[in-house]
Amino acid sequence: MTDAAGLEVTVVGGGLGGLVAARRLALGGASVTLLEAGDRLGGTVTHHVVGGIVLDAGAESFATRAGTVEGLARSLGLGDEVVPPTGGGSWLHRAAGAVPLPATSIVGIPGVPLARDVVRVVGWRTAARAMLDELIPGTVGDAATSLGALVRRRMGAGVLEQLVAPVVMGVHSQHPDVLEVDRVAPGLRAAMRREGSLAKGVRDLRDRAPAGAAVLGIRGGVHRLVDELAADLDRFGVRVEIGRRVDRDEPLPGEVVWAANDTPVATRVWLVTLVVEQPALDANPRGSGLLVVPGTPGVGAKALTHGTAKWGWLRERAGAGRHVIRLSYDHEPTLAEAQTDAAVLLGTPLGAVVGTDVVAWTRASPRTLTDDERWYVGESVAGTGIANVVAHAERVAGELLAG
Ligand SMILES: Cc1cc2nc3c(=O)[nH]c(=O)nc-3n(C[C@H](O)[C@H](O)[C@H](O)COP(=O)(O)OP(=O)(O)OC[C@H]3O[C@@H](n4cnc5c(N)ncnc54)[C@H](O)[C@@H]3O)c2cc1C
Repeated sequence: MTDAAGLEVTVVGGGLGGLVAARRLALGGASVTLLEAGDRLGGTVTHHVVGGIVLDAGAESFATRAGTVEGLARSLGLGDEVVPPTGGGSWLHRAAGAVPLPATSIVGIPGVPLARDVVRVVGWRTAARAMLDELIPGTVGDAATSLGALVRRRMGAGVLEQLVAPVVMGVHSQHPDVLEVDRVAPGLRAAMRREGSLAKGVRDLRDRAPAGAAVLGIRGGVHRLVDELAADLDRFGVRVEIGRRVDRDEPLPGEVVWAANDTPVATRVWLVTLVVEQPALDANPRGSGLLVVPGTPGVGAKALTHGTAKWGWLRERAGAGRHVIRLSYDHEPTLAEAQTDAAVLLGTPLGAVVGTDVVAWTRASPRTLTDDERWYVGESVAGTGIANVVAHAERVAGELLAG
């Protein structure tokens, strides 16, 4: 452990980025103060109670990439609580009906464009166009910085709009045309360059990924990470001030770690959680949930997660015949709209609704780093997702400690 005696640090923002940085700095011997504007810690990782069940209200899983979050969970005493999802893969809902998402893909980009599960989604013509990717030189499209431009160039607009856009919009709430390849699919461009085509790059990355699930969760919900991080901060003597909004120009003592995602709001997301009694859902008719192809008539939701199919612990907690469903929207939905969408997407009447909640979230835009004296962590610099935020916050705190 680095000896950072005498190092004073103020961390602004108590989401996962700020909490992980503060913990790492305190473990390294720094004297740390954390200032959080809201009335609780955790930011977008938090919980709510719906139909008497404690549920994640924001993030509910994390990418297994490099084992970073699992490692954090283990160091927080939650190692035995890390669980893989159950209940099958995701489905795609299009005007023509619902189909399982292709098995070999990354952010919806197929590794084998002519595979049966790809053709089933996009049809022969679009799959055949995507095959051109394997025939044109590997350098074509390499200069494209947006994921949309890259996929359109190599595999065509059909694959982009019918496969990649629904997956990416479900995760990032933005169209692939406005998202950088390296932010959404780290390592994909390098793999494409190495292998000579986009499909081969996808297959290569899939082969290199650790066996098992691409995401994991925590029994009881990922919000438990926040409870344990907060307990550690207390244990390591970090001073935590809740309800303390820091102005951008406010002078602060010591080194400053800026973990507040105070960039312009890029998108708003509404999550509707429904707890229903419907034994027909025991069979997981749409696996762990569905992504909706943008513009599909008759459905306003972007995505649906069947929580009690996805997480075994949640199914046990809910009890037989009772189900947790979560829908996401890019407009403010009514409960009636959400209930209609859920029935259409799951292909069955909803049954008795025994609990509902609607939560609105804002998502920050990527930050353009200026040359100031602060250290930046959090989603606006690390990229979306718990795995990115945790890995980046650990790294930045380590650099700060190393001087
Ligand atoms: C609906 C939703 C679902 C998601 N699902 C997943 C998922 O399943 N898996 C996954 O990996 N990721 C998911 N994410 C993304 C993930 O939650 C985030 O990437 C991550 O939690 C961001 O952490 P953060 O610390 O950067 O930011 P935040 O969680 O945004 O925390 C920032 C904190 O800073 C505080 N703050 C802001 N301004 C100030 C100020 N001026 N002074 C003091 N404090 C301030 C805020 O109050 C907040 O607590 C989801 C996000 C959303 C919105």
